[in-house]
Amino acid sequence: MLKYDIVVVGGGFAGIAAAITAGRNGRSVLLVEKGNSLGGAASNGLVNPFMPNRTRLGDDTEATELSQGLFAEIVERLKEMDAIRKSRIFHEEYLKLILNRMACEAKVNLLYHSHLIDVNKNDGRIESIIVANKSGRMEIFADFFIDATGDADLAVMSGCPWRLGRESDNLCQPMTLSFRVANVDMEKYKTARHTITPLYNEMQKQGKIKNVREDVLVFGNIIDGVLHFNSTRVVKRNPVDAFDLTKAEIEAREQVFELFEFMKNNIDGFQNAQLLMTASAIGVRESRMIDGEYVLTADDLVSCRKFEDSIAVGNYDIDIHNPEGSGTSHYYFPEGQYYSIPYRSLIPKNVDNLLVAGRCISATHEAQASIRIMPIVCCLGEAAGEAVSIASENKISVREVDITRLREKLIKSGAMI
Ligand SMILES: Cc1cc2nc3c(=O)[nH]c(=O)nc-3n(C[C@H](O)[C@H](O)[C@H](O)COP(=O)(O)OP(=O)(O)OC[C@H]3O[C@@H](n4cnc5c(N)ncnc54)[C@H](O)[C@@H]3O)c2cc1C
Repeated sequence: MLKYDIVVVGGGFAGIAAAITAGRNGRSVLLVEKGNSLGGAASNGLVNPFMPNRTRLGDDTEATELSQGLFAEIVERLKEMDAIRKSRIFHEEYLKLILNRMACEAKVNLLYHSHLIDVNKNDGRIESIIVANKSGRMEIFADFFIDATGDADLAVMSGCPWRLGRESDNLCQPMTLSFRVANVDMEKYKTARHTITPLYNEMQKQGKIKNVREDVLVFGNIIDGVLHFNSTRVVKRNPVDAFDLTKAEIEAREQVFELFEFMKNNIDGFQNAQLLMTASAIGVRESRMIDGEYVLTADDLVSCRKFEDSIAVGNYDIDIHNPEGSGTSHYYFPEGQYYSIPYRSLIPKNVDNLLVAGRCISATHEAQASIRIMPIVCCLGEAAGEAVSIASENKISVREVDITRLREKLIKSGAMI
């Protein structure tokens, strides 16, 4: 029988942080991941760089990084391998290696190529989950579970209440298939950069570009001559409907070639450019969020509310890519200000031995638009890992975890809460 103290489903930044934390606490941990590596959106979706989550506190002249703890450790390990730049652009191949190593060092058992497909629940507790993989159907038992699937798959299968996208019409932020272009003459590109969006907008007006995104979003890359495009935009598709997700992949791939051809034919520096790669999966910014013990709102964020059970802090802007078409709205936090995220937003209703971490915690569409970035979800995962460790050691439910103890443990690991 496969039995662990804790099973984490999903190996993105939330899941890996939860699993490593619980492993370091001496718990027996299994992390189940449908892909072949850790990192989630960063690895499968080529999402890059780490968005900023920092501010100058008080009279400080230097900004303080608000995502500390395990996230800071991962950044340090990337630095040691010269795999991250000041701009926080990182090399995902090194990230995958580092995360494998960190998981193994924490004695986390890894199970790749395995899809969560079902759950067995009894009397308000998850007894086991079923995963499908090359070995067939596997039943895995645990005392505690963490749903870090991004889509709240485990919570939904367990009968926890949830919502999809924004409240008014359930539309989610657009999906994006990221891609990379190599062999760019960077000097020429830098000079031509300001001409890209005006020309792109002109060609949109002429109907020559179908992509509804308002501009061309390009980032540098750690490899010379390579640019990273986070600029396809698929709207009004449901990321947790398999046929819609397939249609999204097809639409986005057309957009990749449309954008690449546009750059190659019009922008100086792209004459010899080559399409290097697309992500192995379209990136999902938002899908299902649980309706947990506390629903975090934009008001909580904008008022920089400090919860008594705060387990993570943030001030990345409320960055909403229009779910219906063109445009991106932003609310930027004033310098020195930050909000907190309560432990209760990780607790789903109806189940006593499950926590949810990552972009699918209990938050509104607007609040999720800020808390979703990799540095913040990593902190949410770390908090979930500490909380289930306490629950597992003391044989109590996730609701009974002593908040003071949880917060002390997080502070001891260097987290800002
Ligand atoms: C296009 C795009 C651009 C973005 N840009 C940035 C950016 O520049 N910087 C930034 O910091 N953030 C950015 N974000 C946000 C950020 O990348 C994500 O919100 C964050 O990585 C989510 O982390 P997570 O751990 O919650 O989920 P994910 O990273 O999605 O991880 C979930 C994991 O669970 C696995 N999984 C899912 N379902 C199952 C299942 N049923 N069984 C087994 N495994 C399963 C998946 O394979 C995946 O590995 C972007 C997101 C997108 C989509």
